Amino acid sequence: MGWNTLDDIDIAGKRVLTRVDINVPMEDGRITDATRIERIVPTITDIRAKGGSPVLLAHFGRPKGQPMPQMSLQPLVPALEAAFGCPVVFVERPSRDFIDAQASDAVILVENTRFSPMEEANDPQMAQFLASLGDIYCNDAFSAAHRAHASTAGVAQLLPNCAGRLMQAELQALEAALSHPKRPVGAVVGGAKVSTKLDLLQNLVAKIDVLVIGGGMANTFLAAQGADLGASLQEADLHDTAREILSAAKAAGCRIVLPSDGRVAREFAAGAPHDVIVLNADTRLEADQMVLDAGDISAVEITEVFGTLSTLIWNGPLGAFEIPPFDTATVAAAKAAAAQTSAGTLITVAGGGDTVAALNQAGVAENFTYISTAGGAFLEWMEGKELPGVAALMQ
Ligand code: AMP
Repeated sequence: MGWNTLDDIDIAGKRVLTRVDINVPMEDGRITDATRIERIVPTITDIRAKGGSPVLLAHFGRPKGQPMPQMSLQPLVPALEAAFGCPVVFVERPSRDFIDAQASDAVILVENTRFSPMEEANDPQMAQFLASLGDIYCNDAFSAAHRAHASTAGVAQLLPNCAGRLMQAELQALEAALSHPKRPVGAVVGGAKVSTKLDLLQNLVAKIDVLVIGGGMANTFLAAQGADLGASLQEADLHDTAREILSAAKAAGCRIVLPSDGRVAREFAAGAPHDVIVLNADTRLEADQMVLDAGDISAVEITEVFGTLSTLIWNGPLGAFEIPPFDTATVAAAKAAAAQTSAGTLITVAGGGDTVAALNQAGVAENFTYISTAGGAFLEWMEGKELPGVAALMQ
């Protein structure tokens, strides 16, 4: 069982239906971050270099099955042309005849797939129609692979298929991180709430050797062990769940590392006066005190944990990293992980939610082995769920 890459399929002279993620943020008609476009360039370039013609399928925004002019893909044509270095033909209502009338090396962009309600319903008729537009299906939109839609799953089953270069890189990084990692493998899971990461925590403790818990989530775990953390962000209704995760980790032989000290303030604001205090089951904060970051000893301990690992998965910050100095532990730990990665002793794979922003803030995003920008799909993979868009590529 595996998936094809662009190297496994003969695409010369073929129309290659290529599902991409070009759902770029825009303000006043201008693209504010073109990263998603830049990341599909290798796939488009490779398809054309191999003599194929890409027919791009993509969604944009959430039109909910209705044509909405403000969510048309047409305004992206100039940016795509600049990125690909070739003309891009936009088509609102595609047909095979129209596509066959274009030059054999043309790049064709089909209007927003979500303008039809059949897309998100994964309607077989839409999948059939899309399949009629191409000879081969290539999925380069890992970030949409957790959705079973006509353009991500249905059509894949109707044509010879393969992963695009970005999908390939993403799958290889995720497989190296969790499916068959170089051990010991550890994870940092931080961020606001346990409730949004329950599946993630449960899957990780069953598979990895060390789990570092940080951020508001760590407060819930410490409180579940008896600490009174005052006004700290935590979920009192999840104390039982936190204890269950600790027991599951113990049973699976996964070591849990919680912060042993924390940066504590009385207001949630940049530069708020703060103290660093010991954190354990006996900690008693005053009613208006909040743990907003892991402390300096914790940062050293986390760095020491990294030193024992060969693979590290990272999701979520260790504190309220948007308001310095409560980014201190996140930045220190991220720098340590990056230094080990650069030294060749650690494979680092990060993604999901605010993780990319936190690593950018630490100035180390470039140094990680792989940073996923796939958000929800990254998390679902790490939760151990089957992604329909990936499953459909399995041979
Ligand atoms: P998530 O999207 O679950 O990864 O959570 C990220 C958010 O958690 C960021 O906005 C952080 O500011 C917030 N956060 C992390 N640690 C804390 C904390 N100790 N107190 C309050 N907010 C936190």
